[in-house]
Amino acid sequence: MAALETSGTTPRSLLGFTALSVSVVLAVLVAFLLGVNMHRLRDSFAWVQHTNRVLLEAAGMHEALLEAGSATRSYLLTGDPTYIAVHAQAIRAMNSRLDVLARLVSDNPAQARRVAEFRSQIRARQLALARAGGLNAGSRERVIATMRAVGNSGAYRDFSVLMGAKFDAFRQQEMALLQMRQDSAEKATGLTALLAILAAALALIAGGAGVYLIQRERAEHRAREMELLLTHTQRLSLMGETSLALAHELNQPLSAAGNYLSALKRFLASETGAGRDRADDTAEKARAQVLRAGEIVKRLRNFVAHGDNERSPQTVETLFADALALLGTLDDGVALNRSIEPGLRPVFVDRIQVQQVLVNLMRNAIEAMRNSPKRELTLRAIRHDANTVQICLQDSGSGLPPDIASRLFKPFVTTKSTGMGVGLSISQRIVLDHGGRIWAESIPGQGALFCFTLPVAQAEEAAAA
Ligand code: ADP
Repeated sequence: MAALETSGTTPRSLLGFTALSVSVVLAVLVAFLLGVNMHRLRDSFAWVQHTNRVLLEAAGMHEALLEAGSATRSYLLTGDPTYIAVHAQAIRAMNSRLDVLARLVSDNPAQARRVAEFRSQIRARQLALARAGGLNAGSRERVIATMRAVGNSGAYRDFSVLMGAKFDAFRQQEMALLQMRQDSAEKATGLTALLAILAAALALIAGGAGVYLIQRERAEHRAREMELLLTHTQRLSLMGETSLALAHELNQPLSAAGNYLSALKRFLASETGAGRDRADDTAEKARAQVLRAGEIVKRLRNFVAHGDNERSPQTVETLFADALALLGTLDDGVALNRSIEPGLRPVFVDRIQVQQVLVNLMRNAIEAMRNSPKRELTLRAIRHDANTVQICLQDSGSGLPPDIASRLFKPFVTTKSTGMGVGLSISQRIVLDHGGRIWAESIPGQGALFCFTLPVAQAEEAAAA
């Protein structure tokens, strides 16, 4: 079974594994790109939060400023001292929001400058108020007088309007910044997403190709294994068949030789001259059978050694004569008819193998006719087509047993108590090896007909012989 073990990495499976590795690397790249995009989205979200915070602080500061202005005006109009506390609280809130805002926009010089400007303008406004006496219990008249003196009682309103416009500009700038950041983040995210999609598609293609190549390699490997297994099994079965064939074929000449030797013993024991004459003939026949057995073994040895057989042009007359010589003395009660179409070309065959087929078929026919009142065997050879000769054997025996008629050429099919059931299967193998065909049929009321075809020798084969 060593021949079944096939291993090693082929270029195709190497390519498959490389494609799978590429697919894994691309999958890692996809994960990385998705991670980068997640990070960008988080950043983008953080920017939105930052902008919200800045806008919230700016709005709070604006509100505190308006509240401070409104408290100032209310105090000046009503003289209610509670507005002084409201004013002071609004100023504190405004300063604390200014601090937060300054910290939030510290990374943006333009916005930081704007916040510093808010601070200085608000401070200037505070100073102007302080110069007018500040906002306290006794300062109301003085402040009003100062304001009247400068003819600027609406100055708080104007300041609020001015600051409102500045806050709007600040807010818009912050919104524009957010938009810019989001636009660039969107572009980068889109590009990364595109790259991720491309990488994912490539990963899928590479992965698919890798799996396909590896699967195909495995399937081919398996097919190769099956083929080797089949060859191995066929070899085993051929060995079995060959052994059976050998046993089967040797059995026949050896038992014939045995019969001749028994007869020889009898003849030698007889005192008559005729007995002695027949002894010579019988000894010669026994010798021929033993030689044939030796020939069979030799043929088998050649076959095993060279895996080939020896074919040569043979006339059908020779083949018939060979087979009949082997069978002639086996059963004297059988009438043999021979008919060979005139001008039939020689066939290109292994002589021993075809003898084997003919002897098998004839022996079967003789056995089938053992209990028949009429025992007649006809050998016929005709031209089948331009390149083939057809040989038929017809007997007057029992005909083919119907239960095995369809399995006749399968090994181990027999109706005989001592039969091995391999004669016909071996005959079929030999005929098929020669490129021919073998078939059988029962002829109702007459017996069985076996026919097979053999190739005629072509001119160059005949010349080479
Ligand atoms: P076996 O050695 O057992 O005879 P074969 O393969 O030669 O094996 O033949 C198989 C069977 O085919 C025989 O047992 C017999 O039943 C049948 N058979 C073969 N030749 C004939 C025939 N001429 N007439 C009738 N039956 C036959």
